[in-house]
Amino acid sequence: MTKKSKLIAGNWKMNGLRADGVALASDLCALAGEAPQGAEILLCPPATLLHEIGALLKGGAIALGAQDCHALKSGAHTGDISAMMLKDQGCTYVIVGHSERRADHGESDETVRAKASAVLEVGMAVIICIGETEAERDSGRAVEVVSGQLSGSLPEGANAENTIIAYEPVWAIGTGRTPSVTQVAEIHTAIRAELGKKIANFDNLRILYGGSVKPENAAELMAVDNVDGALVGGASLKAADFWAIITACS
Ligand code: PEP
Repeated sequence: MTKKSKLIAGNWKMNGLRADGVALASDLCALAGEAPQGAEILLCPPATLLHEIGALLKGGAIALGAQDCHALKSGAHTGDISAMMLKDQGCTYVIVGHSERRADHGESDETVRAKASAVLEVGMAVIICIGETEAERDSGRAVEVVSGQLSGSLPEGANAENTIIAYEPVWAIGTGRTPSVTQVAEIHTAIRAELGKKIANFDNLRILYGGSVKPENAAELMAVDNVDGALVGGASLKAADFWAIITACS
């Protein structure tokens, strides 16, 4: 990566059969040469598509990532996938601690931290998701909650090259609602300050915003201080929308 390039990551979640995924990735590959300078693009398809999409992206400008991994290297964990298995498919990034995993699978900060460590151990970069619920925000605890999740989820050895933080307020994910730019700036500044307690080159570590990023709000959100890119869910499933978000970074 170039220093502090903006990272625009598409999290496809549990969406896409082979034909859809290949068509979407192919459309984006055709556009990738025109990406604005200083924008790095990442696709995180479901695990079932990693192999095929990885082959499509190989050698090009778009990186491949996974949406989760197991904390252990191998063993009796039916249905799980280790970090090394993902690397073996061509992944260079893994998302961990997404709020849907924290909620659906009861993942604690400790679990997220162990997964993040596993990613770093095999030489990939980790995207660690944190974010408050609506009730936590309404009770004035957003900064406290996010800072606590960050300090509990950050693994040993995290640095600006191998770790990315994604601030994703739970109430903004898939809802069409976004925090104001002032609220985003407040949390991203708090995250930067928390990183400063643990990481030497904390100023260079990228902090993404995620939660209902769309073509219409991307430029405004990407211009906020300490916003170094976006983690995009729904809008990453349409090439035109995802591309419009990428170009909003210029
Ligand atoms: C996400 O789940 O990471 C996300 C940001 O989703 P959406 O863009 O759909 O809100």
